[in-house]
Amino acid sequence: MDREQFRKAGYAAVDRICDYFENLESYDVVPRVQPGDVAKLIADEAPEQGEPWEQISQDFDRVILPGITHWQHPNFFAYFPANTTFECILADMYAGAVSNPGFNWLCSPACTELESKATDWVAKLIGLDQSWCNEGKVGGGVITGSASESCLTVCIAARERYLRLHPGTPASELVIVATTQTHSLAAKAALILGLDFVAIETKKEDDWALRGQGLREALEGLEAKGKKPFVLITTLGSTSTGAIDRIDEITAVTADYPSLFLHIDAAWGGVFLALPECQQEAFLASINARAPARADEGAICAGGEVHSFCTNLHKSGLVTFDASCMWIRDRALLTTALDVTPPFLRTPQAQAGLVTDYRNMGLALGRRFRSLKVWFALRSFGVSGFRKHLRHLISLAETFESALFSPSTGVPGVVLFAPRRFSLVVFRVVSTSSTLSGLAYENALNAAVVELANRDPSLMVTPTTVGGESCVRIAIGSPYTQEKHVLELVEKIRGLVDQAREQVDAAQQQQ
Ligand SMILES: *Cc1c(COP(=O)(O)O)cnc(C)c1O
Repeated sequence: MDREQFRKAGYAAVDRICDYFENLESYDVVPRVQPGDVAKLIADEAPEQGEPWEQISQDFDRVILPGITHWQHPNFFAYFPANTTFECILADMYAGAVSNPGFNWLCSPACTELESKATDWVAKLIGLDQSWCNEGKVGGGVITGSASESCLTVCIAARERYLRLHPGTPASELVIVATTQTHSLAAKAALILGLDFVAIETKKEDDWALRGQGLREALEGLEAKGKKPFVLITTLGSTSTGAIDRIDEITAVTADYPSLFLHIDAAWGGVFLALPECQQEAFLASINARAPARADEGAICAGGEVHSFCTNLHKSGLVTFDASCMWIRDRALLTTALDVTPPFLRTPQAQAGLVTDYRNMGLALGRRFRSLKVWFALRSFGVSGFRKHLRHLISLAETFESALFSPSTGVPGVVLFAPRRFSLVVFRVVSTSSTLSGLAYENALNAAVVELANRDPSLMVTPTTVGGESCVRIAIGSPYTQEKHVLELVEKIRGLVDQAREQVDAAQQQQ
């Protein structure tokens, strides 16, 4: 393709993308394909001779779109949102034009300096104080591809920190600590690092949040077994129910465990800190609080404070996948653990301490130019537009919640499983039968609702099981979802719950 062909093809692609959004609602949310259907339409090898662009671009419609699950669809309520915006689609085009691995300051000063500024912008947007910002020169942010990558990266920094404080600790004693509600990213980090993993049970009466007492007991138990918990992965907005660990109580406990590094995984929930009305329930004051410096620790930051924080802008934060922002209070913890600088990567600017070399703050050498889309989106929406989007999502969830549970017109026999968190509503179908009841019966009802829902390609929802109880999760987050969609959803749920009761009751009576 030459430049003039690109010009034409580019205009056509933008037209095609606009058509996609114009017709978004006409697509099924979940494609009607069976495993292997898409692969069958794709050649087994790259063609020997190049093909005309016309044919290639048509195959996006013929091969790809029929196999796409439409995360932007207004009736997508599964997993978590994956916002995309036109600003970011354009940013990705520009980033593609200057395709740039950005690992050193010198290999593109703009990539590095924009990333430092963009992560500072986001930190300020969500209420993280100066100590998290690059401009303070001690803390700072990086943009990675995923919360999982961010978690693994901080675990490496935390391990290095622990070993500096306690040289010679055998790897077999080191433990990564999380809870049963922590995303699998913590267990995965342990797996990758070859370390032990412990998940603390959380309780229904605490809305599935980790509390200080539970943490203290778990840490004491581990110490009694000679284990060395070196990092604690807490959650602000858990995947299952949106649970927020009690950061206020947790930091009071970790003050007694200065070697324990404290990370907050706020992959989905973190962006809601941009709303002043959400900051208290998310313990922003405790996230920002500093522990008094301890003389015995030197430059390594103290216990009793949060050391790192991660949120994904590519969920509800108006930035096209992928943009996971991770901040650390002490950047040196990352660079000490991850700086491998062979002579050919040395630059006079870095040697002089004038610049950030992002390759020393993450796993990869080369990295995508993600800050461009963050910058474009935040400038175009502004802080007020960003907040408006989040408030809209919350108000949709409130509308859904009050319609679903309305005493007069709601769906009978459904209960809220955990308090609504931001734009996530988790409910459970319970028995309304005079003869059938019990955990297994009610779990079967909930499983049936999700299964029946997912036979209907016009919507997508996902289940969860917490403390042995199966539930239905409604995660609202597409910028295209409007009030009518969540009200229609309530009606669909009404039908699905009726069907599920009939189906499960009939099966039980046969037994
Ligand atoms: C979505 C989510 C994750 C996973 O995020 P990735 O960026 O895909 O690794 C982890 N934790 C929580 C709480 C999430 O909501």
